[in-house]
Amino acid sequence: MVKAVVGANWGDEGKGKITDMLAREADIIVRFQGGANAGHTIVNDYGKFALHTLPSGVFYGHTTSIIGNGVALDVPRLFAEVQSVVEKGVPMPKILVSDRAQMVMSYHKNFDAYEEERLGGKSFGSTKSGIAPFYSDKYAKIGFQVSELFDEELLKEKVVRVAEQKNVLLEHLYHKPLINPDELYNELMEYKKMVEPYVANVSLFLHEALKEGKTILLEGQLGSMKDPDHGIYPMVTSSSTLAGYGAIGAGIPPYEIKQIVTVCKAYSSAVGAGAFVSEIFGDEADELRRRGGDGGEFGATTGRPRRMGWFDCVASKYGCRMQGATDVAFTVLDVLGYLDEIPVCVGYEIDGEVTKEFPVTHLLEKAKPVYKVLPGWKEDIRGIKKYEDLPENCRKYIEFIEKEIEYPITMISNGPGRDDIIYRNK
Ligand code: GDP
Repeated sequence: MVKAVVGANWGDEGKGKITDMLAREADIIVRFQGGANAGHTIVNDYGKFALHTLPSGVFYGHTTSIIGNGVALDVPRLFAEVQSVVEKGVPMPKILVSDRAQMVMSYHKNFDAYEEERLGGKSFGSTKSGIAPFYSDKYAKIGFQVSELFDEELLKEKVVRVAEQKNVLLEHLYHKPLINPDELYNELMEYKKMVEPYVANVSLFLHEALKEGKTILLEGQLGSMKDPDHGIYPMVTSSSTLAGYGAIGAGIPPYEIKQIVTVCKAYSSAVGAGAFVSEIFGDEADELRRRGGDGGEFGATTGRPRRMGWFDCVASKYGCRMQGATDVAFTVLDVLGYLDEIPVCVGYEIDGEVTKEFPVTHLLEKAKPVYKVLPGWKEDIRGIKKYEDLPENCRKYIEFIEKEIEYPITMISNGPGRDDIIYRNK
């Protein structure tokens, strides 16, 4: 049985916590897309961790953690992360890396930085982890697949070919130092040394696991709004953030994905540029940012302050629909306990008309939020275990949003820890 944990919004919904929690009952956790450009923050008995590449199941002895073929694999980052986890007392996780995953090279990161510099004020707010140049190269068929590390003849020819092409841009567009093919080859050989013990035929491993009745969790990065097809293009990421892509990025049949836990945060936050209809500013935003998440809404990778906003039913309904949500996990609800009143965005006004359907980007840019203001509950809800024990206004907030988004909220997260969860039978 395969379950996916994915985001309905702009990312940072708390997928890491939900994955870590569900991993207790899972055998295998697979990262199927994205790279080290975003992070999950996880709080458990070992401490607090920011994971960027490792799946959020690495803290359990019984799970196998997999880097799927759809991931942008940053080999040195992966191994630094393994080391940092082990240093904090976590037993060495069982890790498999797909032989079909491709690797982020140091020039991908350079290209990211050079392009941001070239674009100046018009930049996309990239984290400069090399993700966009990496995926461009993958689809231009000039990327380096892990399996190719074991074919030295091919590599020797390919580094020359790749350097030749990249150097035209480096010389004429960016005016930056050129790539030396020998150095590129050495970089690949270093990656080979690091990754060799973990390389596996992941799709075959998962096929066997499914036959044995194992439980597999697919862990998504970012959320629906950042999907290159269905998100706020071009302010999106470079790989699909949707559960459907989990089948491709892990190498399993699509019909095996039985449960799609779509994580929605009880308010909104976003990083990077792009339209954000329910965005708030000033003191109101500062206060929510400071109180948000676990220790504030600042990027797990970059430390950048996140943009803040009220819950957006239009975006979340669409986000759940594109994920194919079977369950909604509603997270970080405890943070809203300080508010007297809580605005919720229930519609977009575009050219004088109100809609509840999420539009394409050029219309989204014009959308103004239509708010419904709900009463707050003015209580700390951490520690509550039963739905009925939540304050009435808190339940009303959940039920109002559930009605608007039209997907069942079956889990409510009221704190960052593994056990801060309220299940709701639907
Ligand atoms: P992800 O990328 O979707 O995994 O999200 P992040 O890890 O970047 O952001 C979620 C943040 O909220 C982390 O700091 C979590 O520890 C924290 N968090 C998750 N669920 C809850 C919750 O229910 N309440 C509170 N207060 N914090 C939470």
